[in-house]
Amino acid sequence: MSDIRVPDLFGCLVFNDREMRERLPEDAYSALKNTMQLGKKLAPDLADIVAAAMKDWAIENGCTHYSHWFQPMTGVTAEKHDSFIEPDGNDSVIMEFSGKALVKGEPDASSFPSGGLRATFEARGYTAWDPTSYAFIKNETLCIPTAFYSYGGEALDQKTPLLRSMEAINRQALRVLRLFGDEDTRFVHTNVGPEQEYFLIDKELYNRREDLILTGRTLFGAKPPRGQEMDDHYFGSIRPRVIAFMKELDEELWKHGIYAKTRHNEAAPAQHEMAPVFTTTNLATDGNQLTMELMKKVAEKHNLACLLHEKPFAGVNGSGKHNNWSLSTDKGTNLLNPGSSPRENAQFLLFLTAVIKAVDEHQDLLRISVASAGNDHRLGAAEAPPAVVSIFLGNELTEILESLESDTPYESKEAIQMKVGVHILPRFPKDNSDRNRTSPLAFTGNKFEFRMLGSAASISTSNTMLNTSVADVLMQFADELEAADDLNTALHALIKREFHAHKRIIFNGNGYDDAWMKEAAARGLLNLASTPDALPYLTHPGNLDLFARHKVFTSAELFSRCEIMQENYCKVLNIEARTMLDMAQKQIFPAVSAYVKSLSETALAARQLTPTACTAETTLVTKLSALADSMYGHIEELKTVLHESETVDGAEAKSKFFCNTVIPVMRALRTDADELEASTAKSYWPYPTYSDMLFYV
Ligand code: ADP
Ligand code: MG
Repeated sequence: MSDIRVPDLFGCLVFNDREMRERLPEDAYSALKNTMQLGKKLAPDLADIVAAAMKDWAIENGCTHYSHWFQPMTGVTAEKHDSFIEPDGNDSVIMEFSGKALVKGEPDASSFPSGGLRATFEARGYTAWDPTSYAFIKNETLCIPTAFYSYGGEALDQKTPLLRSMEAINRQALRVLRLFGDEDTRFVHTNVGPEQEYFLIDKELYNRREDLILTGRTLFGAKPPRGQEMDDHYFGSIRPRVIAFMKELDEELWKHGIYAKTRHNEAAPAQHEMAPVFTTTNLATDGNQLTMELMKKVAEKHNLACLLHEKPFAGVNGSGKHNNWSLSTDKGTNLLNPGSSPRENAQFLLFLTAVIKAVDEHQDLLRISVASAGNDHRLGAAEAPPAVVSIFLGNELTEILESLESDTPYESKEAIQMKVGVHILPRFPKDNSDRNRTSPLAFTGNKFEFRMLGSAASISTSNTMLNTSVADVLMQFADELEAADDLNTALHALIKREFHAHKRIIFNGNGYDDAWMKEAAARGLLNLASTPDALPYLTHPGNLDLFARHKVFTSAELFSRCEIMQENYCKVLNIEARTMLDMAQKQIFPAVSAYVKSLSETALAARQLTPTACTAETTLVTKLSALADSMYGHIEELKTVLHESETVDGAEAKSKFFCNTVIPVMRALRTDADELEASTAKSYWPYPTYSDMLFYV
């Protein structure tokens, strides 16, 4: 039996509402709450009071340092620690933390990706406290979640645009609620529950694979005799070493105020999942970043390596992140809950229609939000949703919307008659969506599950895109309905029209099916197969306007993001290709050569006794030599194309060069190496095999 008491443990490393209420004077507490919920500015003297309370709490909990914790465009978080000490003038120190130090930091920004926003000589960057996310303790350091931006105020991070998009959707959703006579709701926010997949392998084995260490995925590896075909890992009983890891991970997450809820084995061997209870998007995003960091740290303690890459192993499922997204009011009402009364239904149908239209109109943005070199291995590979964005609504809701579209009565399964007209709507049966695990964006009862995200990425971009797209449509709807003479008539007409215009985005069938790709093309849906195909859409004029309209990204920020993502794609592939060259030349080739030598020596010796001996060895030597020759050819070819890549100008052209020219050579090189592995004695093989890694934890 565990001796921990979870409620005592939960949030013990977080300066949360409980601590604030306890440690702050009444007026400071309510001012801070106003800042957190309504975005009101916090007076400087109050910042001093909050900082002092935070410092006392942190020191009581063993901290000596504080750090602005931020999320630059590297995919991981960044921190620079400063101690609390101040010389007191008497050769001693006092522990200080001012409101100024809490609110603003000035890290050197020159070494973070900026996509041309900030030349290296203008190194100034700022971090600004995000009071909507709680400060927490990590490594005896008080971590303050912050936004990170340039001297000119341009966002250099993941958090700033997310916060802006949350404001945008709040503004527009409130307008819609007011139309329905809701005067009480003070704000609307989006919620997210991100399910996180990961692999665990033995650390010793990990340490012997240069590809895992340098790139996070295996660049070589023959298919093991057994993969995931037995379907016995998903939800299977969890092995002791893994359970020990999960137990400690849960405790760490709870201490950091993360609502770790579900843990289970995933489809592939050595693959697992953790899902927290959903929370406000900003907190969920910070929490997910912290979760990924803690997963790696806790794994180390168990002599395991946690792989967050989207495709660590070829031939078995890769890892994703399911972003469960919903909209709710400060009173806790979920606006995507179908409800049972007509008023809620009409409002629900309007929000639902808004999401349908937003997703159809902004397929490109959702696709871009999940684009990365790693995730390109999953999307469309019959294990994750295709690269084509579509919505699963389930039959029930689809039929309801179709009946509205065609002005025919809807008959629910429970035979509740519905008169058409949004003011007299059906009672929705409880479970109005079936499960569909192949859809990119599935409506699952009262939320949308966006399933295309890669396991390693921040969830920030996807939510920024979702929030902004939906905000824009809500804005159009509010404009139209506010001007209408009769709300019900206008509402009915609007839903009918918009559903008709955008129903092509709804697909309730099997998304992994080839037939769907053909149909999607016939419907005119975008199919942006690779990251380099998708990224240029980010700066299309319509998108520049969209983000400017809602003050989420300036044009300069969008161009910079596009360039950062393209450059990042090229860097990842460049590192992968060079790692392949290294392993092929320094490990694989010598191993094969040694084995061939041994086989040849055996054959030669045996033939002195019997002239016909060792035909198998001879055949194998011939085969291995031919494969090694072919591999050598691909090594040379890869060097040539990598060299050529250096001469390609511009991030977009370069990303396409890597995608279209370098990747095929990497594939060919891998094919040769993996065939060599399959025919070479294990004792000669220089690194652990797939079987070693996938089945021995
Ligand atoms: P699955 O079967 O896909 O694992 P679950 O019902 O277990 O689905 O939920 C998965 C995630 O969805 C969890 O993180 C959960 O907290 C989150 N979730 C549930 N309701 C909502 C909601 N209204 N908004 C956002 N996320 C939600
Ligand atoms: Mg799920």
